[in-house]
Amino acid sequence: MKIHEYQGKEILREFGVPTPFGVACFSVDEALAAARTLGGNVWVVKAQIHAGGRGKGGGVKVAKSLDEVQTYAQQILGMQLVTHQTGAEGQRVRRLLIEEGAQIVKEFYVGMVVDRASQRVTLLASSEGGMEIEEVAKHAPEKIKTLRIDPVHGLSEADAAQAARGIGIPEAALAGAVAALRGLYRAFVEKDAMLAEINPLVLTADDRVLALDAKFNFDSNALYRHPEIVAMRDLDEEDAAEIEASRFDLSYISLDGDIGCLVNGAGLAMATMDIIKLYGGSPANFLDVGGGANREKVTEAFKLMLKNPRLKAILVNIFGGIMKCDVIAEGVVAAAREVHLTVPLVVRLEGTNVDLGKKILAESGLPIISGNDMADAAQKVVAAAKGEK
Ligand code: ADP
Ligand code: MG
Repeated sequence: MKIHEYQGKEILREFGVPTPFGVACFSVDEALAAARTLGGNVWVVKAQIHAGGRGKGGGVKVAKSLDEVQTYAQQILGMQLVTHQTGAEGQRVRRLLIEEGAQIVKEFYVGMVVDRASQRVTLLASSEGGMEIEEVAKHAPEKIKTLRIDPVHGLSEADAAQAARGIGIPEAALAGAVAALRGLYRAFVEKDAMLAEINPLVLTADDRVLALDAKFNFDSNALYRHPEIVAMRDLDEEDAAEIEASRFDLSYISLDGDIGCLVNGAGLAMATMDIIKLYGGSPANFLDVGGGANREKVTEAFKLMLKNPRLKAILVNIFGGIMKCDVIAEGVVAAAREVHLTVPLVVRLEGTNVDLGKKILAESGLPIISGNDMADAAQKVVAAAKGEK
């Protein structure tokens, strides 16, 4: 689960990582009032969306007067902000962060992720802050320092200091940087994050370090123990189909293709998307209905896929292991009747009672195309999506 920058900064402050003062706003009036309350003479007007690269897209502006705060707030609120992370359609800006402008001497990058190979939280730090870390990784990988953190001892002062020196933090600012890195690590662990990123962490003219940006991604399997994080959820930033799917306990991810996939098991779902690609098609979604898919779940899954205006065909790929194929077939037939299918449906069944399942499909009177195996089913659904028989 992702949160907004201003919420991320609240968490950082809780763990002793300094940030500029700022106020989240929902209107131009609120933005002006916030700038007045903050005082000073430089403010930054920042679009709050769950995507990075806002600065480049025109979603971060430095204002040198209250008039400029007003102008930028008007410009940014309600805009369809396009960044490299939003896709071409962009994301509507509904919230702003108005914060004091910092005097930046240099921008650094610090981030933490779980490194699966070493099974440790890993600190990534770079002297090249402010830009996309993916670009740095591509063009100057030697400028990214990594440190795998021992889970028993945590991030020690000595290690944090070494990492800070390694990216060029001057001695005068070292204590601040060490505190920021250790705070970030504690926040990561205590809040069950999967990713925590400060880009940029800046050095100011008076030798302080400040987090100017904050990005968190939390492990949804651990949200049950963080009601304070769940409270930060902003459904406007999430995919409507994915929210709907989560209500029915379906693992659903929207994609940009036109072939709907209804599969049981995440591995089979991945393989199904792969084989659709292999035969020249493009999946509209990832969908794992789970091991205990009943008629209701299958029906909801069909409804979800059919809401997608791009949808051209559906592939149902089910392995009846725990579930029996005849039960699945009955579910598919009932669901297909209930939702009044408007696109071709290809079904591939395998496993327990497969013959009975196929018989139910064949005798249903529905125009269901039967796939003999995965390759056959994938080829048939790709052809159907292209309008070929
Ligand atoms: P994004 O990463 O989405 O583009 P950031 O929050 O990193 O958004 O802002 C982009 C850039 O704007 C930063 O790299 C920094 O140079 C500048 N910036 C952001 N916040 C401030 C601030 N409070 N004071 C001064 N400059 C800022
Ligand atoms: Mg940033």
